[in-house]
Amino acid sequence: MIDGTDRPPIERPAILVEGDRIAAAGRREDLRRVKGARELDFGDAVFLPGLVDCHNHLAADLTQKDWLSRLGSTDAELTLNAISNMSSDLRSGVTTLRCLGERNFLDMACKKAIESGRMLGPRLVVAGRSIRSTHGHGFLASPFDGPEEVRRAVRENIKAGANVIKILTTATVRGQGEIRSDYSKEEIFVAVEEAHRAGIRATAHCIGGVALEWCLEAGIDSIEHGYFITDREIDLLIKRDRWLILTPSPYLMEERLEALPLEMAEAFRRGQQEAGERMAAAIKGGVKFAVGSDAIHGRLAQEMEYLVKLGATERQAIIAGTRDGARVCGLEQDIGTLEPGRIADILAIEGNPLSDIQALQKVKAVICRGKLSYSQQGCRMTSRSK
Ligand SMILES: [Zn+2]
Repeated sequence: MIDGTDRPPIERPAILVEGDRIAAAGRREDLRRVKGARELDFGDAVFLPGLVDCHNHLAADLTQKDWLSRLGSTDAELTLNAISNMSSDLRSGVTTLRCLGERNFLDMACKKAIESGRMLGPRLVVAGRSIRSTHGHGFLASPFDGPEEVRRAVRENIKAGANVIKILTTATVRGQGEIRSDYSKEEIFVAVEEAHRAGIRATAHCIGGVALEWCLEAGIDSIEHGYFITDREIDLLIKRDRWLILTPSPYLMEERLEALPLEMAEAFRRGQQEAGERMAAAIKGGVKFAVGSDAIHGRLAQEMEYLVKLGATERQAIIAGTRDGARVCGLEQDIGTLEPGRIADILAIEGNPLSDIQALQKVKAVICRGKLSYSQQGCRMTSRSK
């Protein structure tokens, strides 16, 4: 068991679950036997906390060739896509997913359905509509201009139940010269201030440049992507003690690049090497980071593998996808580690991800909120009453 606390792994582990919480976790022989407890035996599986995808969306899947035209689908179709995408995410071990932008608050509807038990899916942390300027980037975002429109957008999101506010401040690919900000400093400040006054966090899509400085100055909680972050900006992030959410696959995953319109794919390929180098520099530089898969599904383990390719240790990648993801979501009291009192979100995999990160892709079982949500053949369930 790798419990997500950064302590050494525990051999021959067992986890005692009562209701939806972990009552005890440790060496099997140290745990008390509970009369009548149902026992699940996962053989030689390795246990980890359920994974936290800190940057995703629900309806879109950007490995599909026709994803661009699908963005214009009806809400009913988008919702059906969301349901099937969330099922892939859950089965891959993602028990918490931070959705950073959906149309027409469909993320809030999904969250309610999951929490009430009407639908199976990961725990959702939702942003509602993501907020961009009219001329700015963001296929999945809605346009709002000027401080007052931005303020209204933030407040409407909060009223609808947003847990986090997401603004888009730059493009995703790098153009010529300086990276431009799509929002003014004032608009960024208003978004962050409104979120914080309501007691929720704010995060920004930002690949670098002056927008990153403004976001940090405004007190933003995290920066998404950071593909072209400079050494100076890395230092600023560290000085301000803010999170970077790394999302390697838009630049590094061939399947995604192939699904892009030709011109867009070329722009990403042109930036591929630099984006890889800058993400690696951020990891090496000591930035606090978590990880997200950004509009693909069931593939967070692969994003974590990219982190290792970019220079993170396996241990760092695991912490990013569990404990630190929970911290980014503000849920560290409930999830992210396998400790007594935490919600029983447990992933069982085949193989040791500390020596081979690809083991995370061999999922044997997923337990979410204390319930077995997915299990591969071969896991024995027995009832004991000793
Ligand atoms: Zn995104």
